[in-house]
Amino acid sequence: MATNPERQIDGDAFVLPAATIAGATFSVADSEVCSRICNASTGDTIGWQEHANAELVDRAVHAAHDALITWRHTTPAARGRLLRKIAELLEADRARLAAMQMQVSGKPPFEADLDVSDAAATFNYYASLCEDAAVFATEPVAVPDDTLLAERVHEPVGVAALIVPWNFPMVTTAWKLAPALAAGCAVVIKPSELTSPVEHMLAEIVSEAGVPDGVVNVVNGGGEVGTWLTAHPLVDKISFTGSTASGRKVMQAAAQDMKRITLELGGKSALIVREDADVAQAVSLAVSGAFANAGQMCSATARILVHDDVYRRFMAAFETAVRALVVAPPADQAAMGPLISAAQHARVAALVGQGVEAGAQIAFAGKLDAACHAGYFMAPVVIAEPAADNVLWTDEIFGPVACVKSFRSDDEAIALANDTRYGLVATVVTNDAKAARRYKAQLRAGLVWVNTPQLIFPQVCWGGFGLSGIGRELGVAGLRSYQELRHTVGLRA
Ligand code: NAD
Repeated sequence: MATNPERQIDGDAFVLPAATIAGATFSVADSEVCSRICNASTGDTIGWQEHANAELVDRAVHAAHDALITWRHTTPAARGRLLRKIAELLEADRARLAAMQMQVSGKPPFEADLDVSDAAATFNYYASLCEDAAVFATEPVAVPDDTLLAERVHEPVGVAALIVPWNFPMVTTAWKLAPALAAGCAVVIKPSELTSPVEHMLAEIVSEAGVPDGVVNVVNGGGEVGTWLTAHPLVDKISFTGSTASGRKVMQAAAQDMKRITLELGGKSALIVREDADVAQAVSLAVSGAFANAGQMCSATARILVHDDVYRRFMAAFETAVRALVVAPPADQAAMGPLISAAQHARVAALVGQGVEAGAQIAFAGKLDAACHAGYFMAPVVIAEPAADNVLWTDEIFGPVACVKSFRSDDEAIALANDTRYGLVATVVTNDAKAARRYKAQLRAGLVWVNTPQLIFPQVCWGGFGLSGIGRELGVAGLRSYQELRHTVGLRA
C-alpha cells in the first residue's frame, strides 16, 4: 500500500476512484491511501486504486438505504428482467472481462473465460427464480384451527454488505450480487484491493442494465474499509468470502447489531482415490483439484488420499502430469498462472519451507515455462506422506501445493478426510456404487463430487462445515439468505 505522494501515474496506468455511490464516482484527497493494481504475470503496475475513507463508506451505505425504499417494492419479475439483462451484457462483454482477469490475476484464458460463464449463469439462474412466482409467493401454513389463516412470506433483509476476496473476484461477487438483487436488497460491494478493476467492470454492467442508482454501490480498499462497512448500523446483512481469520472478525462485528451473516471461508479438502478407481481419471481430478487457479481455491483438494493398491501407479502418473503442466503467463498453452501477489508468493514459499523443515518430503515438483521472466509464478509441488501435524497437511496453503497420503481401508480414508476443522468440499474417485454412497453419506463436507471435476452449478448450494463458514450461497438457500422469513396469523375473513 502507498500514499499518494509515492504515486506516479505511468502512461497507460488507470486510477480507480475510491467509491461509486448512487451512480457517481468519488475520489479522495491526495494525502489519503491508495494502492497499486499489478499484473500478476509481470509484477508491473497497471493501475492505482484509491481507498475509500470512513465518510465515503457511510455515504455508500446511506445511498443503499435510500434506494431500498423503492427497490424492495419492485416486483420479482421486474428484478428478474434486470438480472437477465446483466447476464446478457456479461456474455456480450466476455472478451474484455476475461482479458481484465488475465491481466490482473494472470489466469490462463480458459479459466478467465470460465469465470465469465459462471457469473452469467448465476445471474440467469436468479433471473429464473424471480420469474417463478412460487418462490416469492405468500404461502399458507397449515395450523390446527380452521378459523385462523397463517401465512409465511420472504421479504428482503435490507442493505447488504458484500465483501469479497481476490481469487475469483467476478464469480464471488456474482454469487452474492445476483441473489441479493433478486431478493430486493440494496448493496455495498467491497472488492479485494488486489482485483477491484474486475468488480468495477461488473458494476458498470449492472448500471448499464438499468439497475437504479444507489441499489449497487462500490467502496474500494482493504480490511479497514471492510471493518467500517461491517460496523455500520444501517447494514442489515453481511455476506463475506475470505479467510477464516477475517471471518471471525466479521462475525464479531456483526454481533453488535445482530446483523445477518453468510461466511464463506477457507478449506483443506480431500480427494480420495479408491482401489477400484480409474487411475488416469484420478490423476486428472487431482491435477485440477489441487492446481486450478494456481491452487488459490477455497475448494482446493490439496489432501490427496490414495489406496495402497494403486498408490505407486497413481504417483507415477501424477508425477508425469505435474511435470507436464505448463506454468506460464496467459496464453493458449498455459495450464497454470501465477499467484496473485508478491506477498502471497512469499507466504506460500514460507509455508513450504516450514513444512519441509518439519520433515515433509517433496516427492516431485513441476517447472516454470521459459516465458515466466517476472511476476509471481510458483511451480506446483507435491509432498508425499507428510506427518499428521505437518503444516502442509493441516493448514490451508492457498497455493500450488498438494499432499498425498496412502490408506488401506474406507474407514481409514473417511477418518483421514474428516480429520480437519474445515469441511468445504470433497472428491471421491471410485467405480463402486455402494462405496460411493458411503462416502457421500459420511464425508463431512458441504459438497461432495463423485468421479467429476469440481462442477459448480448455480442451482447447487456452496458452503461448508466448521471453519469453512456459516450459511450457503447459490441455490434457493442463497436467495433466502438475503430474505427475512415472516409469518402472520389472524382470523380468516
Ligand atoms: P481475506 O480474509 O484477507 O480478505 C477477504 C476480503 O475481506 C478482502 O476484501 C479484504 O479486504 C476484506 N477484509 C479483510 N479483513 C477484514 C475485516 N476485518 N473486516 C471486513 N473485511 C475484511 O482473504 P483473502 O486473502 O482476500 O482471500 C483468501 C481467503 O479466502 C482464503 O482463506 C480462501 O479460502 C477464502 N475463500 C473462500 C471461499 C469460499 O467460498 N469458501 C472462496 C474464495 C476464497
